[in-house]
Amino acid sequence: MFDSVRMRLTTWYVGVLALVLLAFSLGVYLLLAVNLNNRFDAGLQVTLDTVSAMVLHELSEGEPLSEAAAGTIEELYFPLQSLTIYDDQSRLLAQKPAQKLSQSPALPEGVSAADSIAFYTLPADGHDKHGYRLAVRQARLTPADKPCIITVSQSRASIVSELEFMRTVFSVAVPIALLLAGIGGWLLAGKSLAPVVAMSARARQIGAENLDQRLAVVNPRDELGKLAAAFNELLARLSDSFARQRQFMADASHELRTPLHVIRAAAEVMLEQPRREEGEYREALTMIREQARRLTTIVEDMFMLARADAGSRALEETDFYLDELVIETAHAANLLAAHKGVSVEARPAPEILYRGDENLLRQMLLNLLDNAVKYTPAGGSVSISVTPRELEYEITVTDTGIGIPEYAQAHIFERFYRADSSRARVKAQGGAGLGLAIARWIAEAHHGRLELRSSDQRGSVFVVTLPVSLKN
Ligand code: ADP
Repeated sequence: MFDSVRMRLTTWYVGVLALVLLAFSLGVYLLLAVNLNNRFDAGLQVTLDTVSAMVLHELSEGEPLSEAAAGTIEELYFPLQSLTIYDDQSRLLAQKPAQKLSQSPALPEGVSAADSIAFYTLPADGHDKHGYRLAVRQARLTPADKPCIITVSQSRASIVSELEFMRTVFSVAVPIALLLAGIGGWLLAGKSLAPVVAMSARARQIGAENLDQRLAVVNPRDELGKLAAAFNELLARLSDSFARQRQFMADASHELRTPLHVIRAAAEVMLEQPRREEGEYREALTMIREQARRLTTIVEDMFMLARADAGSRALEETDFYLDELVIETAHAANLLAAHKGVSVEARPAPEILYRGDENLLRQMLLNLLDNAVKYTPAGGSVSISVTPRELEYEITVTDTGIGIPEYAQAHIFERFYRADSSRARVKAQGGAGLGLAIARWIAEAHHGRLELRSSDQRGSVFVVTLPVSLKN
């Protein structure tokens, strides 16, 4: 049951409220007790002062002490209080017990009366189960006279019953208040959490097939609204990623289908007749080998991008000379370009020590040079150069090729995108449209960029920018 937030909220609420109410009740009770006792003592003191004033008055008129005491007691009457006057030896001179008593409570043992007032609490006796409060002082006309001891006492019943009443009130009122607060808290928590429950029910209905659905955002400024908005953004990203994944799968199958069809057709044609010329076999096998090569390249490129997406292709960093890598890749491209009648040239560059993944950067440059050679007709030229700038190195691949149509320029870095028609591609031995996507990923993995700087009928210029240090 405590797995429910609603239950936990209510329990906390009631628990905290119980602590507050208990502390409050206790405080009020103690304050009341102190106040009642003070008022009670003040009442005793007023009576005591009255009695002593009257005794002194009688004494001043020349009456002996016993007469004065008896006269005073005779005249005074307080129904709830017992009055007693003793001589200085604590012998009883006169008394007037309170209404319900036959005699005043006895002077407790060890009481020493002084000119100032003192209070005592006496235990319960047979007459009163609540005990008594007693005020005592002595009185005399002059310091030379023998004093008399005056006491006033009263049952504590009124204080005890008032405090008892307060205890009853608290012991009934606090549980009722807690019960009401608990019910209120439970209802309130339910109401506040209702949107969360609705959201989770809706979220449960959303699956891969209806990722376009969204949670309702009631108030975008409150916490729940923000939660729903964040969830919706997550859904949008997921849906986007799903769509890209689907597109990738569709494009990939499309790319793989053509070479597979060619291979199958070549094999079937060869097998149609029991015997064929050796030349025919050779031709078919050559075609099959070419298509298998193409398949290998596509699958390897797809594998690389898949690993890049999954973040599992970590950079293998080493120190190497960037200018030497540029020369080396230019040489490699030149071998391919030579029989096509295209020249590849690396511009002279200063020595540049660089830290990065040499194999990946080599592949990036080869992809760019390969494209440049592929899309440059015979007689054209390709050049590559590396230039140190203030905080970065700029590698430029320039060709005098056919250029990229304007409508395609924004898309050439997308996966499987090809600007040329399939016929032109076959003639140009084009790839699957993954080369630039991979090259761009490599540049970005090195915290750099790959951009098409310009492209028209005179040729294209691709620029790679790499930060001076990978760590910056
Ligand atoms: P592909 O494997 O088809 O070359 P890329 O991703 O490397 O795929 O290139 C995408 C498209 O960009 C190519 O199909 C081509 O149309 C265009 N392209 C790339 N580089 C050049 C270039 N140097 N000159 C002209 N077009 C280019």
